[in-house]
Amino acid sequence: MSQETKAALASLDELRDWTRKSLAGASDPAAVANIKAALFGRKAGKVNDLMKLLASLPNEEKKTFGQAVNTLKDELTAMIDAAAGALDAAARDAALRSRAVDITLPGRRMHDGHPHPLTDTLETLTGIFSRMGFHVRTGPHIEFEKYNFDLLNIAADHPARDMHDTFWMWDGVVLRTHTSPVQIRAMLKEKPPLRIIAPGAVFRCDHDATHSPMFHQVEGLLVDRHVTFADLKGTLGVFARECFGAATAVRFRASYFPFTEPSAEMDIQCVNCGGRGCNVCKQTGWLEILGCGMVHPNVLRSCDIDPDRYTGFAFGMGVERITMLRFGVNDLRLFFDNDLRMLRQF
Ligand SMILES: [Zn+2]
Repeated sequence: MSQETKAALASLDELRDWTRKSLAGASDPAAVANIKAALFGRKAGKVNDLMKLLASLPNEEKKTFGQAVNTLKDELTAMIDAAAGALDAAARDAALRSRAVDITLPGRRMHDGHPHPLTDTLETLTGIFSRMGFHVRTGPHIEFEKYNFDLLNIAADHPARDMHDTFWMWDGVVLRTHTSPVQIRAMLKEKPPLRIIAPGAVFRCDHDATHSPMFHQVEGLLVDRHVTFADLKGTLGVFARECFGAATAVRFRASYFPFTEPSAEMDIQCVNCGGRGCNVCKQTGWLEILGCGMVHPNVLRSCDIDPDRYTGFAFGMGVERITMLRFGVNDLRLFFDNDLRMLRQF
């Protein structure tokens, strides 16, 4: 072998050593990329420079040297890949360590859903009256003025219309201001004996801590032969004890509604203080809970029911108010915000 070829082959060994040392000192992927460029770069690459030596070698030894260069290329490529792979793995390990999670921690608890407090009260109220034989009836939210007022003994010039801040849809049509039109529809369609409750949403132009433009009522109606005020008091007394506890005392106060005569309001003994007097009951010991009375003969007559043959009683209560008293909530608007922090307390 010629001296030139020996020297050329020796320079291959030098390049291998240089590469090994350089890679050992490379601390990041960019340094490895620089070494790769220094070896295989198109212009100043050290491997390409080796090929220039080829011209100075004897012809019969060019093949040996060429093969040696190709073998070295494969070796160098493998060394670079290994170094880059080791740096990648180290970087991945470091990243995983920096955002390590403690897999022994307990998972986040899923919250069980439950009915909204208003729904809960509506279901409780319907349940109590259903067990006393009342049937649920519903009606449209958009209602004829006639059903909402006129047939309930509230003529156009009746002062009681001022008590209802009515949403008018168009002439003769309103958003119902109470669920009483459901009673009218029932009396027009079904004949006595009648025993119904009408739960549902009603609408009035009013908005503050105790009023919402949309709220819920449950009204009840019983029409039959020989129904008296004693039946009314008995039925509503049972309701109060079922809803607020067996020891709940009730009292009736004379009142006025256009569609009942005589009319009354029923109070229960304060659920907060037991009658001693507190802020909730304004120191009176009593809480107003519903309005009621004997169905006015004019209302029966306007629904083609003979007031000389039939009598009946009716009552109505606000679902929001009952819910506030049941759960000790002091602002009705909380029911409509649907803030989960509030709803989860029930
Ligand atoms: Zn009280």
